[in-house]
Amino acid sequence: MAIKKKKGKWIVKLLKVVVIAYLLLILCQLIGDVYSRLSVTHNILVSEEWNLIIVNRWNELPEDYSVELTELSNGQKVDSRIYPYLQEMFDAARAEGVYPVVREGYRTEEEQQEILDEKIQIYINQGYSQSRAERTAKEWVALPGTSEHQLGIAVDINADKSKCSNEEVYAWLAENAYKYGFVLRYPMGKQEITGTSYEPWHYRYVGEEAALEIYEQGICLEEYYE
Ligand SMILES: [Zn+2]
Repeated sequence: MAIKKKKGKWIVKLLKVVVIAYLLLILCQLIGDVYSRLSVTHNILVSEEWNLIIVNRWNELPEDYSVELTELSNGQKVDSRIYPYLQEMFDAARAEGVYPVVREGYRTEEEQQEILDEKIQIYINQGYSQSRAERTAKEWVALPGTSEHQLGIAVDINADKSKCSNEEVYAWLAENAYKYGFVLRYPMGKQEITGTSYEPWHYRYVGEEAALEIYEQGICLEEYYE
């Protein structure tokens, strides 16, 4: 009888330990979950692949970044590696009666600085103080070193206005760009993650595989890494 009782106590103790361990595990998971929801983490996202590199507010262009450029007929330049895909995409759009043009392709660090300086000047001309003008301009224009245009694999696409409207081009791109390896880089509602508000004209080459996944899941490039 005495031995049986002892055995019973041991089982109860063991069960208690198991239950406590299980509860602790659930608690840890809950804390981890809440923490990850509360903190929008912006880790440095490093990719070995040129087409998946991330440049944004929190991730500057690599210092040794260099790119071979191809000049378009309107004088804009893009990374030579994306040129065939861009051309293929534009040909497909034209075949469907939509006429896109690259309004902005590659930009140097100096050109990015000029754009920022011009924007600051516009606000100063409107009567803003120097510091307020700088603050406001930086909300709209990326700091040199943090613009995707410096990569050469991002393009601002508008319409050839003599043939169609910007809206038609944006709508066509939103539905078709992924087929050519391009993604809408700053989707609506993703500003917290991308650091940039919705831009229906800014497309970024990531390659067909990543573009398909990003398009199908309705995510942004930063989320693709998660
Ligand atoms: Zn852009």
